[in-house]
Amino acid sequence: MYKAPRGTTDILPADQPYWRYVQTKAAKISQRFGYSRIDTPVFEDANLYVRSVGEGTDIVEKETYTFKDKGGDMISLRPEGTAGVCRAYVEHGMVSLPQPVRLAYMESFFRYERPQAGRFRQFHQFGVEAIGDADASIDAEVIDLGWRFIQDLGLGNMTLVLNSIGDKECRPVYLKALRGHYAANLGRVCPDCKMRFEKNLLRVLDCKRTDFACQEVINDAPKATEHLCAPCKEHWEQLNSYINALGIPMVINHNLVRGLDYYTRSVFEIQPQEEGAQSTILAGGRYDGLIEELGGKPTPGVGFATGIERIILNLKRQNISVESPRTYKVMIAHLGKAADLEAVALASELRKAGVSAAVASGGKSLKAQMRQMSALETPTAIIIGDNELAQKSVVVRDMTKATQQTIPMADIVSFIKNL
Ligand SMILES: [Zn+2]
Ligand SMILES: [Zn+2]
Repeated sequence: MYKAPRGTTDILPADQPYWRYVQTKAAKISQRFGYSRIDTPVFEDANLYVRSVGEGTDIVEKETYTFKDKGGDMISLRPEGTAGVCRAYVEHGMVSLPQPVRLAYMESFFRYERPQAGRFRQFHQFGVEAIGDADASIDAEVIDLGWRFIQDLGLGNMTLVLNSIGDKECRPVYLKALRGHYAANLGRVCPDCKMRFEKNLLRVLDCKRTDFACQEVINDAPKATEHLCAPCKEHWEQLNSYINALGIPMVINHNLVRGLDYYTRSVFEIQPQEEGAQSTILAGGRYDGLIEELGGKPTPGVGFATGIERIILNLKRQNISVESPRTYKVMIAHLGKAADLEAVALASELRKAGVSAAVASGGKSLKAQMRQMSALETPTAIIIGDNELAQKSVVVRDMTKATQQTIPMADIVSFIKNL
């Protein structure tokens, strides 16, 4: 017996209404904010992610599916969306378009992680990128888009968490202060933090472990927003005023750093209030150095991504109803060989006229056929038997009201269409 690989799932018909609901809301909000759809390849040159996401990150070191293809090229299945979109921006000369270029994507991504609730090895994200404008109002626009998306889905009890991690001018100053603090406390923190201290210092603030003194050391750590250079400070203060003006409930968290190297200045997440960072449903930030890192002219950018599986998990938890699966509008029950032929022909006529129709499974009693219709929640039944054939008519039964009437065969298609 084969099973779907660990960390992957089949999206069965019963779950499809949730997917259609989320995808429709994502497409509508993108359109309303003027973000155009972009699709990039499922795999890219492995180096794209080393250069962008970063060499010391968990994503590149442990989680990306990387392999040599038959031609000897190193390939990675995309672990996230921003790098590919920025690569496309540079490759297709989008710098010559009016800036910022506003792009949206909805794709599957791949990370070799330990599967848990809402986390898969193949997962899906809706994300947006606004590339080519450094102004804090664009950060606010992207955050507003993300916030509105979550609101439009009907999800409640969410909080926006915000931080600024500076840029290439002031980050080194901050990292020096952070390094000093951790050097003095290195004996107290977990092995992971010791490794991050060497390889990817900022990520020490991400540590969730409570079996060492990590949380205490994090609480006493110097704060990035207190080390910002003048332009970064101005950007941070502007963003705060915009978010206040938008009326989005916001919490500043000095330990929010995000697991990718390319972020500069603003980083943000939207989290369910009761569960916090473990179940973040939307995350993003500014990445002003990324395009240059990928070989383009220095170009600022900001964006977010949101996990569709996690959103659906929250929709279910919050009992948000989505449109239920479509059932047949009409099914045709039939008794006898002649009626069987008539039923097949009539179902075809109805479908040609745009009506969702099917013939009830044959070879069973009328009762069994009616039971099948009830199980499928079919609202209307057409019944054809010998009597009806002789009179060139059919019986139409309203399955919810349990009422029925006889309709001439010649009028049946237009009668059903007008129901
Ligand atoms: Zn730790
Ligand atoms: Zn700065």
